[in-house]
Amino acid sequence: MKKRNISVAVAVLLVCGLSVYAVDQVLVEAENFQEKGGWQVDQQFVHQMGSPYLLAHGMGIPVSNAKTAVEFPSTGEYTVWVRTKNWVPGKWEAPGRFQLIVAGKVLEKVFGTEEGWCWQNGGSIGITDRKCTVELKDLTGFEGRCDAILFTSDKAFTPPNSLKEMTAWRDKLLGIPVEPETTEKFDVVVVGGGIAGCAACLAAEKQGLKVALVHDRPLLGGNASSEVRVHTEGIHGKSAEILKGLDTVHWPNGAAGAIPDTEKRHKTMDAAKGVKQFLCWRAYAVSTEGSTIKSVDARHIETGEKKRFAAPIFIDSTGDGWIGVWAGAEHTYGRESRNKYGEEWDKHGDLWSPEKPDNRVMGTSVLWNSKKVDQPSAFPEVPWAMDVAKDKAAINGEWFWEYSSNDKHQINDAEEIRDHMFRAIYGSFANAKKNPSNDNVRLEWVSYMGGKRESVRLTGDYIYTQKDAISNTCFPDTVVEEKRDIDVHYQKNLASGKDCKYDFLSTALFRRTGLYFIPFRCLYSKNISNLMMAGRCFSCSHVGLGGPRVMNTTGQMGVATGYAAALCKKYNTDPRGVYKNHIEELRKLIGYTAQ
Ligand SMILES: Cc1cc2nc3c(=O)[nH]c(=O)nc-3n(C[C@H](O)[C@H](O)[C@H](O)COP(=O)(O)OP(=O)(O)OC[C@H]3O[C@@H](n4cnc5c(N)ncnc54)[C@H](O)[C@@H]3O)c2cc1C
Repeated sequence: MKKRNISVAVAVLLVCGLSVYAVDQVLVEAENFQEKGGWQVDQQFVHQMGSPYLLAHGMGIPVSNAKTAVEFPSTGEYTVWVRTKNWVPGKWEAPGRFQLIVAGKVLEKVFGTEEGWCWQNGGSIGITDRKCTVELKDLTGFEGRCDAILFTSDKAFTPPNSLKEMTAWRDKLLGIPVEPETTEKFDVVVVGGGIAGCAACLAAEKQGLKVALVHDRPLLGGNASSEVRVHTEGIHGKSAEILKGLDTVHWPNGAAGAIPDTEKRHKTMDAAKGVKQFLCWRAYAVSTEGSTIKSVDARHIETGEKKRFAAPIFIDSTGDGWIGVWAGAEHTYGRESRNKYGEEWDKHGDLWSPEKPDNRVMGTSVLWNSKKVDQPSAFPEVPWAMDVAKDKAAINGEWFWEYSSNDKHQINDAEEIRDHMFRAIYGSFANAKKNPSNDNVRLEWVSYMGGKRESVRLTGDYIYTQKDAISNTCFPDTVVEEKRDIDVHYQKNLASGKDCKYDFLSTALFRRTGLYFIPFRCLYSKNISNLMMAGRCFSCSHVGLGGPRVMNTTGQMGVATGYAAALCKKYNTDPRGVYKNHIEELRKLIGYTAQ
């Protein structure tokens, strides 16, 4: 795995003093600590709260300290500010409490106790030695979070908390230029290294393209990675040769079987020498000229460095359609009215498709499991979890531990949704632990990554719907095929029945289909000329997404877009040009014979 190359760079930068100084201020980015200890870098919510942060993900056991070296411009008195969040404010002690240790001295103040992302004042501290260490000391093991620490000699200064002002202020203090450094030119830039993004890279590379893969995690595979642990489903279609290096065997969701499959995927990707992997780089903006994307900007999730990726073609495989949205691509979110595409199904009425459009999409899951150990194992009281978990008792979860509340947006409210699942998990496990038969059961693994199913869908020249699936329409530009039934989810608490009091459990409705086909026109943007999309953000309706959202199918989408990028280069055209003039050649590259 290429994973740690980046960390070496981080350490060097830190030693050189990436905790950077204005006259009397020292800003320390938590995600850039030299030693992370048991804390995890969480970049999922940058667009809502402003930065990656460190998360004390100890499943109820305080994690080991994170530690870094800091150099002060001068000795003297400094006020300490810590940007943090009490992630479950209420009548209980905040669950994610932690302390700061500066130069070996524990500060009295306990952080993580104020509501919402904010700078918590830690009082003043005397710095007697310009070079010292700063440590984060987790007190609970329950998801404490630290974004940054500021030491300022200006007693009257309060750090900014509004996103725009704060980002500019932070970059200035850290000495990070406004304009990103421009990388070498690529033939195609793929953003998002799930199965779809990896497959797109491999297909493009096979055709000799120079590919950049920009991915915001150290591990590849998206939901199939060992960080989320969903096994791949669906068929390989004509793309088996590429997909077999990326897919998984069928372990239970959440199982450690994801680890060897992730290693296999990295070996496959590392062998593709024409693909330059930018792991831990999160795209945050695009620049456009008219309806064409010129470049994508990304930041390293630990160092905060910026890079600009320019190319003639871009593939959005972020799942959330970020590149398309930033470029102004037409897109949708939510469920269409049942009449819009004729997707009514009397059998399930409103649960299948609503009379009026709404925002109730399929939800986010956090997978988890536990194991039996030799000794009894205690688990703390979690009063802050109980109004979510209620009396639910469980020692592991599966795909149906899913939260998709109607008034929560799967992107804008993603942190709250992930945290809701933490409460469901820890509360249900605490309830299960009250049963003596679970005395020796201990939490083994809880993801901290939200596994998403649905959010933004980018609009292409064709929108794939239920009709196409159940009528098995074969298109002249078919590039993907699947036979997995349409499968849409809804929260159990929307219908009366068992478990209806829990809002974090879902159920699935299936509709039989047989083999169905997806046209290439669903894989490029209707109004952004050089943008393709592969993954769950392809062009479809909510019900249309129900079958082909699984990862072997999205992998086929990746293959089609990767080959299409090669034809764009060969004929100096755009994806629509490939559809109009070279579709048979594209299909042939994928493995189809002429119709
Ligand atoms: C609990 C659960 C169970 C499921 N069950 C199955 C199943 O059994 N089998 C199956 O095949 N599918 C299953 N699915 C559905 C499937 O996992 C998703 O539909 C699929 O992962 C979508 O693939 P994707 O490549 O579009 O997105 P993802 O797999 O989410 O990959 C996108 C990647 O892009 C990265 N990214 C996002 N934004 C940026 C950015 N700005 N810059 C850089 N990188 C970025 C993300 O970190 C992510 O890793 C399940 C989903 C869940 C949540």
